[in-house]
Amino acid sequence: MNEETKVIYEKPIPLKNTYNAPYWDAADRHELNVQKCNTCGIYNHPPGPSCANCGSIEVTWENLGSNITGEVYTYIVSHRPFLPGFQNDLPTVIAVVHLEDYPDIKIIANVLNGNAETVSIGTKVKMVWVEATEERSIPQWVFA
Ligand SMILES: [Zn+2]
Repeated sequence: MNEETKVIYEKPIPLKNTYNAPYWDAADRHELNVQKCNTCGIYNHPPGPSCANCGSIEVTWENLGSNITGEVYTYIVSHRPFLPGFQNDLPTVIAVVHLEDYPDIKIIANVLNGNAETVSIGTKVKMVWVEATEERSIPQWVFA
């Protein structure tokens, strides 16, 4: 891509840190990694330094692959760009989705092709990955 045709991604780009790097490394390969607690067995998402349920630091990662489907658990329709770069995407559907195969895991992302008339609680969606930069892909939802 030369300078004239390069698309500038204007939205905030999530940063990798010590605790979420396996999540973003998998996202960059268009896969989903989730953190799991070795002590109590729950999936810990979003990932952190310890389990949100029991506080254990004995957490590992599980790769769920790239065929990720789920149902909208709840959502909002935003008519304001709360962050820079979203002004051309309005209204934005921001959804909490629980995974079909792992209903305990809930992941927040936008439903890219949804709007107030087409999204409701229970809407079936699948994960896609938007390539924000050459190094970073961001999980999002579209209708399944
Ligand atoms: Zn735990």
